[in-house]
Amino acid sequence: MSANRLSPRIAAIAPSATLKVDGKAKALKAEGRPVISYAAGEPDFATPAHVIDAALEAVRDPKNHKYTANTGLPELREAIAAKTARDSGLEVPVNRIIVTNGGKQAVFESINAIVGEGDEVLLPTPAWTSYPEVIKLAGGTTVEVFAGADQGYKVTVEQLEAARTPATKAMLFVSPSNPTGAVYTAEETRAIGEWALANNVWVIADEIYQNLTYGGVKATSIVEAVPALADSCILVNGVAKSFAMTGWRVGWMVAPEDVIAGAANLQSHLTSNVNNIAQRAALAALTGPMEPIEEFRVAFDRRRKLMVEELSQVPGFRVPTPEGAFYVYADVTELLGKEYDGKQINTSLELADYILDKVEVAIVPGEAFGPSGYVRLSYALGDEQLVEGVRRIRDLFS
Ligand code: PMP
Repeated sequence: MSANRLSPRIAAIAPSATLKVDGKAKALKAEGRPVISYAAGEPDFATPAHVIDAALEAVRDPKNHKYTANTGLPELREAIAAKTARDSGLEVPVNRIIVTNGGKQAVFESINAIVGEGDEVLLPTPAWTSYPEVIKLAGGTTVEVFAGADQGYKVTVEQLEAARTPATKAMLFVSPSNPTGAVYTAEETRAIGEWALANNVWVIADEIYQNLTYGGVKATSIVEAVPALADSCILVNGVAKSFAMTGWRVGWMVAPEDVIAGAANLQSHLTSNVNNIAQRAALAALTGPMEPIEEFRVAFDRRRKLMVEELSQVPGFRVPTPEGAFYVYADVTELLGKEYDGKQINTSLELADYILDKVEVAIVPGEAFGPSGYVRLSYALGDEQLVEGVRRIRDLFS
């Protein structure tokens, strides 16, 4: 078989580093093993009932059975404009909004709209796995800017400036962050926004966890902190995380008009309009009662505290308290470079594998998000399981 069966671009996409542990966890579960998994990147709650009702109504309406506008239903774009004004402090007309198949497609279109061959994109890490792959597909180069547990997993302007070159086109800004749960303060956000503005660096702000913050912390939108950034900033968002709607696949991007026009061209050849039933459901989510969403947030907050409390008692786990999203990111460097059961463990990938083998608990190694030495645990699971899994890990290292 010829070596170039696949195109170079597709052949260069890295398989997800989470797959190894995840695949093994699923295989063990299928064998009936009592695996506890902290690997999920989605809420464990059901979608709120009023959203489901709206979808049921929508499916019976023939107008939803046809193609609709590529950029999204006008009513939904209006609702997104209202949400953006409320939560991100940015007033935009609907022609600065496109509805996408999940936040993921919004990330893809955002990067592809502005990043080309030779462009560098600053990526504060640890970061979600998809960004570097999409940057690579667009022909750009990812420049990682790492922030460890000692700095609360938040990069500084000094670090960004040190990584900047004449080729720097854009940066990712993700607050609250997946995988760390870190939330930048309003001042930190403003400092980064001002630096980006002063240096002509585009900001792609992924705000998908914006409504999931705890303990009175608020995630300030970078465009609210620095309004002048509106012409060189793209906001990515969606209903997946805060409305427990990961499977519905509705996200969006908010950007300057020319960027939206470019993204709309791309989307028109890729997927066209997002499923109308899902768009109607998202409309109900954005315009309906917010109580169910607040209930999710309160439950996550309780689990967050429980998780940090339990995990802090595991020898070798350093656990900064996350202020957003639904992940805890533990620094496990102390556990590495040692022998366990006669076998040397040097990386968090090996550690995650060992934990799964020994106590049937699945966690995602830091290699999926940046340097080795860390593990991500999602607390989007029931209290009992949550405590039981951490106890198993604690017993293993005690
Ligand atoms: N951004 C971040 C930071 C995420 O964690 C995710 C989901 N894991 C997404 C975007 C994509 O979300 P969606 O399900 O809406 O595609």
